[in-house]
Amino acid sequence: MDTVVVTRTSDLRDRLDATRRQGAVPDRTVGFVPTMGAFHEGHRSLMRAARAQHDFVVVSLFVNPLQFGPAEDLDRYPRDLDGDLAVARLEGVDLVFAPPVEEMYPDGPPRTTVHVEGLGDGLCGAGRPGHFDGVATVVAKLFALAGPATAYFGRKDAQQLAVVRRLAADLCLPVEVVACPLVREEDGLALSSRNRNLAPAERTAATVLFRALRSGAELVEGGERDACRLRRVVANVATTEELVRLEYAEVVDAASLEPVQVLEPGVRGGRGGNEVLVAVAARVGGVRLIDNMTIRVDGAGVSVDLGVTVAPTTPGVRGVPEETGEAVCAAG
Ligand code: AMP
Repeated sequence: MDTVVVTRTSDLRDRLDATRRQGAVPDRTVGFVPTMGAFHEGHRSLMRAARAQHDFVVVSLFVNPLQFGPAEDLDRYPRDLDGDLAVARLEGVDLVFAPPVEEMYPDGPPRTTVHVEGLGDGLCGAGRPGHFDGVATVVAKLFALAGPATAYFGRKDAQQLAVVRRLAADLCLPVEVVACPLVREEDGLALSSRNRNLAPAERTAATVLFRALRSGAELVEGGERDACRLRRVVANVATTEELVRLEYAEVVDAASLEPVQVLEPGVRGGRGGNEVLVAVAARVGGVRLIDNMTIRVDGAGVSVDLGVTVAPTTPGVRGVPEETGEAVCAAG
């Protein structure tokens, strides 16, 4: 079946309601992949994860002005609707929702916004005030429009993942949030739509973020459990490239985003999570990049997840991610 494109919120809601009503019991399930477009292998991995699990896959494609600050790159954010629709077709997406700004915000900026207390202030939130309120608000709107669904998010945006999980739980939205592995280029650079805006020398230098995380991973795998020393090593490596200006390197609980002192089970922030996030952000020329790794800490020890690597590509055909970390998307 061909991919259908809709631009109106009412069409999205009607089609998904009709889809869920169709067919036998249990109802047909909906897999939802929210994006800002300019698709790369990271987006495609989410579409494939949704395609593998659901009868119907919907992808939203909306560059949300609410999550960009006045001095940020809203105007320069890559847009490629035709290319994106071709990719969506290749991935067997059933429905693309690509609304204009006036459709999502018909009365201008909304008076009702969503603020997830405590999760949007640190890390990227410190340098991008209001960003996660913009994210939380648009995701709440999209979830309200989509209705019962399973939504797929990448671990690349780990703070966003924490915010979205919390807002879905706090607001009792009928959406299960599934986290999918961070996808990297062969040289380790985390895939990002913004990579298109890097000059060649910047593109090369940007791999330092992965090298920094890998140094941290090696340290942890060698037995280091002190988060402060881990943070220092990651930050030291990340500051070795002239073209890369590190904004932060932090070691936090992956759910509460509170700082972690020691990598051991059950002692972080009193919330009982078992994932520690090592997150970095940097400016490379005019482009802001983020990257991270997840350390799972339990009674059996630690395991480090740096994500997965895209296999070598043939021209015009993007590769399938090869596993270097976690095997499948983890629900939760
Ligand atoms: P964006 O279009 O950048 O807002 O991203 C849409 C979704 O794709 C989000 O859930 C991101 O976390 C996910 N995503 C972006 N880049 C990657 C990546 N390199 N690996 C995995 N997921 C990604």
